[in-house]
Amino acid sequence: MFDLQKLVRPNIQSLAPYSSARDEYSGHEAHVFLDANENPYGAPYNRYPDPLQRKLKDSIAQVKGIPAGSIFLGNGSDEAIDLLYRCFCRPGIDNVVAIEPTYGMYKVCADINDVEYRPVQLDDHYQMNGQKMLDTCDEHTKLIWICSPNNPTGNLMDHDEMMTVINKFEGIVVIDEAYSDFSRQRPWRLDLAHHPNLVVLNTMSKAWASAAIRLGMAFASPEIIAILNKVKYPYNVNQLTQQQAIQTLQATTDISRWVRIILEERTHMVEAFRQLPICEEVFPTDANFFLARVTDAPSIYNYLVDKGIIVRNRTRVQLCNNCLRITIGTRNENAELLGALRQY
Ligand SMILES: *Cc1c(COP(=O)(O)O)cnc(C)c1O
Repeated sequence: MFDLQKLVRPNIQSLAPYSSARDEYSGHEAHVFLDANENPYGAPYNRYPDPLQRKLKDSIAQVKGIPAGSIFLGNGSDEAIDLLYRCFCRPGIDNVVAIEPTYGMYKVCADINDVEYRPVQLDDHYQMNGQKMLDTCDEHTKLIWICSPNNPTGNLMDHDEMMTVINKFEGIVVIDEAYSDFSRQRPWRLDLAHHPNLVVLNTMSKAWASAAIRLGMAFASPEIIAILNKVKYPYNVNQLTQQQAIQTLQATTDISRWVRIILEERTHMVEAFRQLPICEEVFPTDANFFLARVTDAPSIYNYLVDKGIIVRNRTRVQLCNNCLRITIGTRNENAELLGALRQY
């Protein structure tokens, strides 16, 4: 049985969180604010922002189809990743399980928090095996990390294998859907209501074209969201970011157009890349990048750097020997990359 109260670290369970001036006052009509030691001059940035980002959450709720009470917002998804460790994993005692290879921050945050990280290798098709992940857990396993579409491999994790993990694991399953806007598969966030042990991560950094503003989201039950809110910095998402995000969330037609263009470019790029003499294999992708095995990744990487073109060399990553990860750029950028590689 999933028992959230037993999963939370005892010190977090009993924590009396910082109560900010803006937390204590709420609801009533007021026009004189002498509670937060702010400067009365210098509007609009003289006041502390809403610690719970209510207006922004209302727009996210609409766009993403998630109730506002199931949304946590952070300084990038990276904040949510770190908070999940700090809320659930006792340093030196607990552990987490994750697919391998995957996004590097899960391991970095585990190391920072002194939490054992247990990677479980994907198979030759970069696919996960749910039972193998469950077999890697013990009574101290608090979190399982699944990234789908996965970074750096680009592919979706198998739905049934993920269901095995979600249904059988008694801790928290985190599904990172940073790239789900580039996939046609139904996003997991829409099934949150059926799975009390699920946390889904989203970000403004990829499809939403806003990496610079640093806004990440965790979607989960209101009970899990309350725990994350208790531990976060009081004003973790600044006012400029909240305003800019609200604007961008209104520009859905621009965003869908860009995503459509990127997907068309991806089809074109993958086809063209497969024709290159340096290409050994392009792996299936549901993201705005693809992973390709090439003849000699380090030397091709350096050759491209000399031409001012930067891709990601993943050759040292498990199962990614001689692989480059290539982001889909504009048509011109993609053409420049292909042109350079034809002359290699
Ligand atoms: C890029 C990426 C993110 C985004 O992180 P932010 O901190 O929100 O910019 C999250 N997860 C994965 C797998 C990513 O590739």
